[in-house]
Amino acid sequence: MLKVNSDYCKLPGSYLFSEIARIVSDFAAAHPEVDIIRMGIGDVTQPLCEPAIRAIHEAAERLSRAETFRGYGPEQGHRFLREAIAEGDYRSRGIDVSPDEIFISDGAKSDIGNIGDIISADARVAVTDPVYPVYVDTSVMAGRAGTLGPDGRWSRLVYIPVTEDNGFVPRLPEEKVDVIYLCYPNNPTGTTLTRAQLQPWVDYCRQHGSLLIFDAAYEAYVTSADVPRSIYELPGAREVAIEFRSFSKTAGFTGLRLGYTVMPHTLVGLECDGNPVSLHRLWLRRQTTKFNGASYVSQCAGAALYTPEGRKSVADGVNYYLENARLLRESISASGLKVWGGVDSPYLWVKTPDGLTSREFFTQLLHRHGIVTTPGAGFGPSGEGYVRLTAFNTRENTIRAAARMAENVK
Ligand SMILES: *Cc1c(COP(=O)(O)O)cnc(C)c1O
Repeated sequence: MLKVNSDYCKLPGSYLFSEIARIVSDFAAAHPEVDIIRMGIGDVTQPLCEPAIRAIHEAAERLSRAETFRGYGPEQGHRFLREAIAEGDYRSRGIDVSPDEIFISDGAKSDIGNIGDIISADARVAVTDPVYPVYVDTSVMAGRAGTLGPDGRWSRLVYIPVTEDNGFVPRLPEEKVDVIYLCYPNNPTGTTLTRAQLQPWVDYCRQHGSLLIFDAAYEAYVTSADVPRSIYELPGAREVAIEFRSFSKTAGFTGLRLGYTVMPHTLVGLECDGNPVSLHRLWLRRQTTKFNGASYVSQCAGAALYTPEGRKSVADGVNYYLENARLLRESISASGLKVWGGVDSPYLWVKTPDGLTSREFFTQLLHRHGIVTTPGAGFGPSGEGYVRLTAFNTRENTIRAAARMAENVK
């Protein structure tokens, strides 16, 4: 019989979110009278903004006529979008990124998973703990994680704890690692790092020849002046960092699909014979071979977000969720629970009371209040003792959930 890629077989059970979904749907079936409010999963609820919708209609019109029809576009993405991004997200903020360094994708998750293609199979990978599970699972699939221990840690991954004990500021790895995944503003904790707190990571990577994989999916939520929106705000980052961005949580594109990766020309790795090679060149080769570009319609919608009207719509949408986060944060802390995040981020990270495990507190909130959260343990061993709430629900549901959370401790 066919031998499969056994690295896939190492992955434990179901993906976290599908497991939570099953528990909740079983509960809903058993208790049809309970009005369940879903504060767990990271999908948005607000519709696409007007400028994006208009661009989608116009793109559909162009596709409907032979004279304006577009087929395959460049694998790297249409020039009009890459220029809008380089100008709108970087150059206008004094950050040096050229359109040629931007690769449009169908969302950040694909690129996060695919980036491993251009990295040596034996690279040592470091992740924060808790962590967005995609970094870990894709490392497992690529054979870089080793074996899963009884403590929930993979033998070849380096875990960097991020907890209340260190004020949610990760410490640099003590050993040399080749690849570091950082996500700021962070999913799941909702916490951020200031420029001063991030700089040592860039410096570490320069010193050790490591690659910093920076997931900036939530950059639009940054409101604090000392928190960077791009890793390239930091000196030296262009030599060590790849940045992932997504339109999913900033413009409601979770269903439409669009993201991009910044791959500076200044990133260099080593071939096995010791010769330097441009990562940009490898990524371009990878994308032109395995990817045929994001949909034209999505790219037109994305470009519309960089018009003055589009920018305002994006800001309004982000502020809507930030206000939800503020409401949740206030009611949770008023209830006596400890909470982090929700200021520069749509995520809130809540400490479980009375030494409950994250699964126990998840169950308590579901059974007592009909509120769905995500148990922190699902994001890694150091997520134990916390649950995650998101600000992505509607204002109405958020207000109701906030009121129920405030009742919790009483
Ligand atoms: C949602 C999310 C993404 C990106 O999702 P896409 O929809 O694939 O663009 C990337 N990273 C993190 C941490 C996320 O939460």
